[in-house]
Amino acid sequence: MQAVEGGRAGGSHEVGIRDGQPIFDGVDLTVLAAQVSTPFYAYSAQAIRSRINALFGAFHGLDVRICFAVKANSNIAILQLMAQHGCGADIVSLGEMQRSLKAGIPAERVVFSGVGKTADEIDAALSAGVWRFNVESADELHLLQHRAQSRGVCARAAVRINPDVDARTHAKISTGKAENKFGVSIDEARRWFAECAALDHVQLDGLHAHIGSQILDLEPFRQALQRVEAFRRELVQSGHAIASVDIGGGLGVMYRPGVDMPVEIADYASLVRATFADFKGTLALEPGRWLVAEAGVLVTRAIRVKHGTDRQFLVVDAAMNDLLRPSLYDAWHEIVPMHGRDEPDVAYDVVGPVCETGDTFAQGRVLARCEAGDLLMIAGAGAYGASMGSTYNSRPLPPEVLLDDGRYAIIRRRQTITEMMAGEQFPQAWHET
Ligand SMILES: *Cc1c(COP(=O)(O)O)cnc(C)c1O
Repeated sequence: MQAVEGGRAGGSHEVGIRDGQPIFDGVDLTVLAAQVSTPFYAYSAQAIRSRINALFGAFHGLDVRICFAVKANSNIAILQLMAQHGCGADIVSLGEMQRSLKAGIPAERVVFSGVGKTADEIDAALSAGVWRFNVESADELHLLQHRAQSRGVCARAAVRINPDVDARTHAKISTGKAENKFGVSIDEARRWFAECAALDHVQLDGLHAHIGSQILDLEPFRQALQRVEAFRRELVQSGHAIASVDIGGGLGVMYRPGVDMPVEIADYASLVRATFADFKGTLALEPGRWLVAEAGVLVTRAIRVKHGTDRQFLVVDAAMNDLLRPSLYDAWHEIVPMHGRDEPDVAYDVVGPVCETGDTFAQGRVLARCEAGDLLMIAGAGAYGASMGSTYNSRPLPPEVLLDDGRYAIIRRRQTITEMMAGEQFPQAWHET
């Protein structure tokens, strides 16, 4: 655990060593690994709570709603934790809506985002009574009007502005440039407001912007928020009431100690307060990663060390289907051997068993020498980890375990192979179209 100075891998004080054993939120991970077997995800409830409280604290005194971006970690127990601490949800599908409602998040705290909402999804969200729709295209706006009209209700809506700023993050998680599929230009949004009186079943009174993810710099936020606020003032001057401004998520976290420098939450809050000083409505935030990334680890066991021609491969039992981020975004995750032995450093390519060259967690990573059977912790895995998991290579989904001050609870058990095949069948009957 030598790499985890100050317990940073747990996001705060939650990781440490006690009697030579790796302790995460008071739970001994080696004992847990023996009980649930590897690979598995472990999340610290204390770390998540402290992030939620820090965020509410930073925005204290404002009419603020924190709508957790469910896609970051959609386990119902994590969503329940969010509900218990006053958070709502930012959803992008009906599945996410049902998870949120099941976890006790009230519909009035749910915002529905996404470019591909279908008529069925809009109907279901209207029936559930979600707080508002973040609308991303003129077509969607008209569909919303039509669906609300046929149900005899009025849909609350915000327009997702694409502020055309460079979030200075990985291209695959940048969403606020004109060339990205998300949101509409301010010019288009202006036309929507000019014409919205004709949409008598849509109450268009909100603005929304989300410019990307893992943003480590205040500047892109400043630019985007200023554009949103300037537009809000313009709308108010032309007589439009704006009840809510949703500033999205995107706050980055420290995956790589000493390299990733996240913005201080107090600085972010000051920026928001200063920018929206004249705004009296509801401010919504949609953080995903910031609330949960550093509160989760993926625990894996070394299967073997393979000596390649000029590389050492540390083959572990977790793979890209469990944690896709390194393959998808070239993401860097801290990897910590938990054997506790004093061993010389070795540069490893840490790889999973999946039949893809991309199934690589790290290349040339210098770690204390490992052998078969050693446990390792892949840190910063609480966001976009389990929620992006698949069963590729027919590997069952791994368990998720919630830790809380020395206790643990299984919040998803390991999928069985039978469950993995459920729903598949041999052709029972052939139909003609
Ligand atoms: C993904 C997403 C978020 C959350 O982003 P993070 O970087 O995890 O905070 C918030 N809002 C919308 C619309 C999103 O698509």
